Amino acid sequence: MSSLLEGQAAVITGSSRGIGAAIATLFAAEGATVVVNYRSDGAAASKVVETITAAGGVAIALQADVAEEEDVHRLIDTVLQRYGRLDSLICNAGIVRDNLAAAMPVKEFDEVLRVNLRGPFLAIREAIPSMLRARAGSIVNLSSVHGDSGGRGQCNYAASKSGLQALTRSLALELAPRNIRVNAIAPGLIETDMTRSIRQLSPEDLSHGIPMRRYGQPIDVANAAAFLCSSRASYITGAVLHVAGGLGL
Ligand code: NAP
Repeated sequence: MSSLLEGQAAVITGSSRGIGAAIATLFAAEGATVVVNYRSDGAAASKVVETITAAGGVAIALQADVAEEEDVHRLIDTVLQRYGRLDSLICNAGIVRDNLAAAMPVKEFDEVLRVNLRGPFLAIREAIPSMLRARAGSIVNLSSVHGDSGGRGQCNYAASKSGLQALTRSLALELAPRNIRVNAIAPGLIETDMTRSIRQLSPEDLSHGIPMRRYGQPIDVANAAAFLCSSRASYITGAVLHVAGGLGL
């Protein structure tokens, strides 16, 4: 077992499956104590914790809806009470509600913005005081290549991910003097539940449109997150790291 993140306490929002689960599993393998957050699927979150524990890592599962202020306060407070520190916060929880704008109910627009943009703001705001006291910390926000390019049928999602990049840069500026780094990852098309329907329903194999000719795997994104939260990235802040096999170039 290597130790890129030895001694860290890390919270990964939305880590009961997909990219978040891969990040939680890798962080634990790299020596971090991991908090697996989920909104609704407690059984899936427990499975992630079991996998980590079976491999010799340390993890707990905590329920919280990242869009709810009280939930997020409880999540971060529990971590600080339990571990006395929070070194890395990965704002990964995200949803899609795809629809053409003319047919999109306002509720679907609001839901996506609440989870994908308000959620990271709430979590980061709760995490800042302890990171300020420690004069150290790393925050990674999961944006998307669609935050740069936009996406047909995704005005809500693309706006949330673009906004998350602006949030990342603003907080990087605010927090850099206190040695707290804030970066974003912009994944392309990664094989998870979120992209299953678009990959299956599309008439052509979408991977052909990706310069590297393959979909990304959750571990590809997890590797980038581990790097950004490690001392190897100690001079990197305000960056948006594309993990997309060239998609969007
Ligand atoms: P996913 O497979 O759909 O998993 C989403 C995770 O987020 C689940 O663990 C889910 O937990 C959790 N979640 C959703 N809403 C939540 C909330 N309100 N509070 C707490 N947790 C919540 O998604 P993914 O593909 O792994 O994507 C992870 C992140 O990467 C997202 O931000 C996504 O936008 C971004 N991204 C993904 C891709 C891709 O190709 N997959 C590309 C670009 C960006 P429950 O099941 O318990 O609700």
